[in-house]
Amino acid sequence: MIASDGTTALRTRLRRLIDERLPADYVGSFTGDPKDLATAEEFSRLLGAEQLLCMAWPAQYGGQAAGPWLQTVVREEMWSHFEPRGAQYMGVNWVGPVIMRYGTEKQKQQHLPPISSGEMIWCQGFSEPEAGSDLGAMRTTATKEGDGYRINGQKVWTSYAPIAGWCFLLARLDARTKDKRDGITVFLVRTDSPGFEVRPLQTLVGPYHLNEVFLTDVFVPADQVLGEVGQGWRIVMDVLAYERIGIARYAKCDRLLAEVRESIGDGWAEVPAALRDRWARALVRSRQARLMAYRVVASQDAGRVDPADVSAYRIAVTILDQEVSEVLMELAGPSVLAPDSDGDRLARTIEDHWRYALAGTVSSGTIEMQRRSLARAILENR
Ligand SMILES: Cc1cc2nc3c(=O)[nH]c(=O)nc-3n(C[C@H](O)[C@H](O)[C@H](O)COP(=O)(O)OP(=O)(O)OC[C@H]3O[C@@H](n4cnc5c(N)ncnc54)[C@H](O)[C@@H]3O)c2cc1C
Repeated sequence: MIASDGTTALRTRLRRLIDERLPADYVGSFTGDPKDLATAEEFSRLLGAEQLLCMAWPAQYGGQAAGPWLQTVVREEMWSHFEPRGAQYMGVNWVGPVIMRYGTEKQKQQHLPPISSGEMIWCQGFSEPEAGSDLGAMRTTATKEGDGYRINGQKVWTSYAPIAGWCFLLARLDARTKDKRDGITVFLVRTDSPGFEVRPLQTLVGPYHLNEVFLTDVFVPADQVLGEVGQGWRIVMDVLAYERIGIARYAKCDRLLAEVRESIGDGWAEVPAALRDRWARALVRSRQARLMAYRVVASQDAGRVDPADVSAYRIAVTILDQEVSEVLMELAGPSVLAPDSDGDRLARTIEDHWRYALAGTVSSGTIEMQRRSLARAILENR
């Protein structure tokens, strides 16, 4: 990234805030220790109060109308400090932008300020038991009733549902459409609506991450439909594009590779040459992923994003994550498998990183589906 237009000053400001306000032992908000989640919530509110959480948004919705490069600086600084925005990134990266694009003025006024102030967490109700990669196969239904809709069905893998106040939910009004992508509608649903039931799933990625959501006659007022009824698929495509670029895990990989090298100190010469080579290759790949992210940001800045670039970045960053986590594990040694919860911050971070990296090639669309999208985008552009 070219250090201009305020990017250096912004990095300095963010690092100062992090130094002053983020505990030195913070490794992420989903460790299972409630104090880490509280830290992330407090830090998000701090960023919100400084108008740094959603910098790219217009001032009237809590931003500074900053360009995508400044927003990228925020993203990188957060990821290289173990993402103290916690679950807020959902609202910041894609819920807010699509509400801004497709929402009514009333929806913007209602939903955007609580996101940009760091007060409101959103979850994403897309996947269903028989509809993950094949999202068009989703079966949750919406039925018109009075001045709203009744929703029935089941979602699965809904991240952060127990701590979210709202859910960005897909449901189908008409099951008989020829193309299964037709007829899908986006509903903005309060998670405390009667009939909205969350059941947490115990998984490797830790608390709050994965849940089932059961919807039984949930009533959603008509003014909480986003965009046009039955035209949700286009919004979904936008969501996925925003979601896939908005996560700067390469910044975290870069930092952890540097830290593990530093922790080994003079012992580095004793590390087997093949492992040192893998460390160097992983570092090169993290820089490559950074450049691929910058390619997308540059096209965002120019107003036209190529879906091939988005998929290529997502593929690169998820493979990077897994490669880095393996190298880190081997360099740091067995203590990482059972880190002392009060002890070695680096070991705890590596363990946390490794667990999540495993899921990276599934969440936000599997790597196989990303490869399909990349191939399709390249062929269509020929
Ligand atoms: C950590 C994590 C967080 C998540 N958070 C959310 C969330 O907040 N909200 C939400 O809605 N969902 C969420 N998901 C769900 C995620 O989007 C789905 O798991 C993903 O889309 C895959 O769907 P599936 O699990 O049904 O697998 P399937 O779609 O059944 O896929 C199974 C396997 O078959 C392969 N496959 C399927 N179709 C094809 C094809 N046409 N060509 C080639 N290979 C194919 C897949 O690549 C995969 O390897 C999350 C998942 C994870 C792991």
